Amino acid sequence: MTVDREKLHALLMWYKEALGDNLIAAIIADREGLIMDAISSSVDKTVKEDLVGGLSALVEPVLERITKEFSSGSFGTGTFDTDEYRLIFSEAGEHAVFVTVLDGLSMVDPILPTAYLTAEKIARIFDGRTVSPVIPKIIIEKQDSKIVREINKLKKIKSKGDEYAFKLILGGDGAVGKTSMVHRFVEDTFQSDYKGTIGVSIMKKQCNFEGLGTSVRFVIWDLAGQTQFKRVRKSYLANAEVGILVYDVTRRETYDNITDWYEEIKKVCSKISLILVGNKIDLEDQREVNMEEGQRLADNLNISYIETSAKTGENINDSFEILALKMIKTYFTLDNV
Ligand code: GDP
Ligand code: MG
Repeated sequence: MTVDREKLHALLMWYKEALGDNLIAAIIADREGLIMDAISSSVDKTVKEDLVGGLSALVEPVLERITKEFSSGSFGTGTFDTDEYRLIFSEAGEHAVFVTVLDGLSMVDPILPTAYLTAEKIARIFDGRTVSPVIPKIIIEKQDSKIVREINKLKKIKSKGDEYAFKLILGGDGAVGKTSMVHRFVEDTFQSDYKGTIGVSIMKKQCNFEGLGTSVRFVIWDLAGQTQFKRVRKSYLANAEVGILVYDVTRRETYDNITDWYEEIKKVCSKISLILVGNKIDLEDQREVNMEEGQRLADNLNISYIETSAKTGENINDSFEILALKMIKTYFTLDNV
């Protein structure tokens, strides 16, 4: 495959122009994780090379995971935070991935449409189609602007086409069992992940519903233990479609904190579908919160409630399946759900 590298580079220059000071670097990689082209904001050539080199090392493990995980599917756009940077990974057709590197304090939302448009153009260049490298400045003033609508529309088409994976996040205090639940559900869990670098571990899992003749795919984002500070949390939550609020039935304070978690999540993703989970029911003799209280809280928040044990596996699959069914109801047109 021959790719018009000059055009790719021209596109990156336009991207830099469009993003201005927000941009630290932009990288185009192929699906093998090979860097095809990169630019950085620095004009100094050595600083520039060092920066791109350093960033490549940072981006590589994530790219590797994404390319391996999604070689046959589609991941859309995802954001990651490191201590210093915020990264936006955008799928650019089936052959490439487009990575935007921003300063750690940048806002991602206003940049997403531009990243999205650029990724589309990269995809077209890779396909050898005609495309102009010019990127207009996109200013999003209102949530309902045209490009946001277009993105939402595309999301729906993808989900109908059975290709779309829903972003699932978990909320709840430390040590309530979030990671254990995910590992129990995903089974073939990743032992070596890149938690240390980016503070998030990402897993993929499909729920099949034979009776309905359909399946739902989840991309599960799990925050590493100590990184639950606010800024990371915001991009962790961004664009999530489903979420699980978890408390530990043996520790009342984790139950009391659920409302705060609910509000924080809803603030970032107002349309998210949530479920409340009371975990560790195998520790019946240490229970501090009973089932009625769990149900009452869920009723107040107008969400479903389920009790689980990540240790024994009880109800773990069910909790994810409830969410999958909600997604089917929201995004797919099925009469019998
Ligand atoms: P996170 O911080 O919410 O991700 O919690 P973890 O998944 O890391 O779990 C915290 C601790 O609780 C670990 O020691 C787990 O082994 C334990 N744990 C998690 N789920 C259960 C459960 O259902 N039953 C019991 N007995 N222990 C659990
Ligand atoms: Mg955890």
